[in-house]
Amino acid sequence: MRAPFHYAILASQLERLRSEARRRRLRLVEGVAFVADGESFHLFHEKPSFPCAGLPLPCFFVIAEASDLSGSLMEKLEAMGARPESPVLVLSPAGTAEPFAFPAGSPQERFPVSVLSPEKDLASRGGAILEGGLLREKKVLIVGLGSFGSVAAVELAKSGVGHFVLADNDRLEPGNLCRHACSVADVGRRKTLAVRDLVLARNPDAQVETFEGDVNVEGTWLRQAARECDLILCMTGTARSRFNVNAACVGAGRSAIYARAVTRAEGGDVFRYRPGGPCLACLFSGGGVPGAPEVSSARDAAEAAADYAPPGYAESLVQPGLANDIAPLVGMAVKLSLLELAPKDQPLWRKLGEDLEAPFYVWANRREGLYEEYPPLGYNFNKSAILRWYGVRVARDSSCLACGLG
Ligand SMILES: [Zn+2]
Repeated sequence: MRAPFHYAILASQLERLRSEARRRRLRLVEGVAFVADGESFHLFHEKPSFPCAGLPLPCFFVIAEASDLSGSLMEKLEAMGARPESPVLVLSPAGTAEPFAFPAGSPQERFPVSVLSPEKDLASRGGAILEGGLLREKKVLIVGLGSFGSVAAVELAKSGVGHFVLADNDRLEPGNLCRHACSVADVGRRKTLAVRDLVLARNPDAQVETFEGDVNVEGTWLRQAARECDLILCMTGTARSRFNVNAACVGAGRSAIYARAVTRAEGGDVFRYRPGGPCLACLFSGGGVPGAPEVSSARDAAEAAADYAPPGYAESLVQPGLANDIAPLVGMAVKLSLLELAPKDQPLWRKLGEDLEAPFYVWANRREGLYEEYPPLGYNFNKSAILRWYGVRVARDSSCLACGLG
């Protein structure tokens, strides 16, 4: 006997199925929808040639009243590949979803169907899709959708952030994939649209705007977007874009989080700007933060390697495990982001706010490069070592060109 099957569908998906059937003027009993993933769907008269990802089996939606189902429709479903174990849902024009035993008259057990309401179910405790509804009204701008930005977007969507502005002018290349939240299926797509789909797959109710321009050129757009958001995450690897975002956030009076890895992700740092506090330019003018840009692909490595480097040297700069070395840095950036977005009166967040009072955090993955002199992790509890966070005090620079007091 097959395992009990429980099917959950969003009320908004049901509505889209119905409106699409109306738009195509399908006779309702002929509208058979194959749901390809959690967000999009397609109506076909023939079985699609691609696998229906995200569902255990091809799932057939019949838009009709259960009493309208005729023998010819049963035959049609069978011809399309419906099997006795295929979930078949009958979506009625009235807005309900009923399980239907296929083939008709079989003793197959009926499976429970839940129609989820975003307002009630997406963020409720217990069985919820998202981690609470506290952040539903919050809006974040993420600049740079690479290995940092794509993962941060997904994490914030899981946490229930309701509004996103995603900015990146690149397309996803095969060389980006190993550390990116997107997959092979997204190669060639704009990173903005591919990451938008990841966000919507986590929170179908999220509002996502995308911007495919260069923030270093489109300063007017950047300043306006910063003003309209509660928080800005700068997840790019280049100093120029980090400083341009810094200037926009200082000007707009908005908090911002900056995260990056340095050479081969041997370590990295995360900086938080709050209006009135030290900005990214203060940090650098006060002695700066050493560290070469991250080298994370064969192409970066080839650019970083000197012409006289031996054959194979560039490739040797890229090593397995970079995604794992980046993960703590993204995690810290997301944690600091949530701290900025969450209500300040909650005890949990108040404690975390006391712990994370420093504006700047340093992380060392390995005893290489900048972190070469660190002692081994060993057993040195309470001594400096790799693989732990260090908060750094940063003073505001009165002569800072971005936020300067005088
Ligand atoms: Zn400053």
